Amino acid sequence: MFLKIFIIFYLFLITSVTFAIDCQTYQRQCASSEKYPIHLSFDDGPADVTATILDVLKKEKIKATFFVIANKVDCPVYKNACDAGDPNACYDLKICRENRKILQRVKNEGHMIGSHGYQHIHHSKLPPKKLRREIQRSKQVLKNYFSTQPPLFRLPYGDGWFNRQQYPDVLKALSEQGFQHIAWEMSAYDWRRSDQQGDKILNTVINEICTKKRGTILFHDGVHNQIKVGRLFTAANIGRWIPAMKCVAKFVPFQP
Ligand SMILES: [Zn+2]
Repeated sequence: MFLKIFIIFYLFLITSVTFAIDCQTYQRQCASSEKYPIHLSFDDGPADVTATILDVLKKEKIKATFFVIANKVDCPVYKNACDAGDPNACYDLKICRENRKILQRVKNEGHMIGSHGYQHIHHSKLPPKKLRREIQRSKQVLKNYFSTQPPLFRLPYGDGWFNRQQYPDVLKALSEQGFQHIAWEMSAYDWRRSDQQGDKILNTVINEICTKKRGTILFHDGVHNQIKVGRLFTAANIGRWIPAMKCVAKFVPFQP
């Protein structure tokens, strides 16, 4: 009995030591012990690893926003191609149905869902008609998943937002279709291969929070050109990054 209690206590001790966060390190990085209001967002999903990220968010009691590429959940397209005899489309259909389940879980767990376009393309390069068709198609596919009024949209690459002076028609097309565009103030650069090692991403994130002090930070749960595989490095580390970020951040839901 005593041995059992001792083992349980020992395991508890080991676990808490392993996951203990030295907040002073991060607060020193910020030169402040203040906690800044930060909103988490994830782009390019859904993907297989989105479930892992949802588990972490649930444990940490955080509500985030997911910007989804609509063609990853547009299952009738794959079904038609599969019925027409394309074996790749049959595989994609299976993944698409799984993606839909994951997206439904995102919604059920109280996160916000926005459109990241039908395809992950540069919207400023599209002719006016095609631009409007793309935006509308994403709206059609995602309409049952949106959780805000107006629904949210984040342009892939920020293209049409960062260069809005030069290409005002992109934001105009979004507002014509009732979307509110949401950009980001901070980025984890978690899509960059060279950053996917050690604590590089965590350091970037802490620096971003210390510098900008508020706003939305961009992470990725998906890989834009893969229907199934997500950002493995992000999913594997987000459970460690968030407690460290909490030393300098107070996570808040997005206020439309
Ligand atoms: Zn993207």
